[in-house]
Amino acid sequence: MKKIALVTGAGRGIGKEIAKKLQEDGYFVIANSKNTVIENTETQMGYLADVSNSSEVSKMIEDIIKKHGKIDVLVNNAGIAQQKLFTDISEADWDTMMDTNLKSMFLVTKAVLPHMIHEKCGAILNISSIWGMVGASCEVHYSAAKAGVIGFTKALAKEVALSNIRVNCVAPGIIKTDMLNDFTEDDLTNLAEETPLGILGTPRDIAEAVSFLVSDKAKFITGQVLSSNGGFVI
Ligand code: NAP
Repeated sequence: MKKIALVTGAGRGIGKEIAKKLQEDGYFVIANSKNTVIENTETQMGYLADVSNSSEVSKMIEDIIKKHGKIDVLVNNAGIAQQKLFTDISEADWDTMMDTNLKSMFLVTKAVLPHMIHEKCGAILNISSIWGMVGASCEVHYSAAKAGVIGFTKALAKEVALSNIRVNCVAPGIIKTDMLNDFTEDDLTNLAEETPLGILGTPRDIAEAVSFLVSDKAKFITGQVLSSNGGFVI
């Protein structure tokens, strides 16, 4: 029987590549997105749900368990970004940022964890950002949410380790996806030049790190943050 992985925010960008890589690794993947319709194949099922909405999350996990009986790997990847001066961030901006990037992780993990505890086995991988490690100007709400992801990862790792469940985090550097659509070509060239390896990352770079951390090769690794960032943050 194939192992089952749930990847949130898998409609585009990093999540889509993580879903692809996990299928290559032999998983059956439930690829969640909010609006992007993801096709069903022999190794993948698309599932539309807003992961910041508790009833949509409960229904998604119930449906997956009904159909597949278990979830071996959870990748909490769904997220949004926004560039604004701190003084321009509205309460609604703050709430949307926290709900999408952090509360979603609470909701999905809370719904999945009892099933992993029942199996006494599981791997959870949370996507943070280098900005959650070092902070980004004009992205205070994003940086705060992504720093929260790191705290969430470390605390949960301690709590569930005895149930044989590992919880780790990947904190990407600058990765070329739709999330960078507001950046000009000049901005992107400058960011690549500021990166010691001289290039921007690709979704594949992140998918490889995720694939490793959820695999048995990383069976002694929990509560850690792996920052795949080309040397941008050392
Ligand atoms: P992206 O290309 O904008 O894709 C984001 C994905 O998240 C989309 O598939 C989107 O669904 C989904 N999503 C957003 N809100 C959702 C919700 N409420 N419920 C379900 N799905 C939702 O972004 P990305 O660059 O791949 O980013 C993926 C993750 O990596 C995010 O957590 C991001 O913060 C993190 N990250 C990215 C970078 C970077 O440079 N790109 C750097 C560090 C960290 P739809 O397709 O339906 O819209």
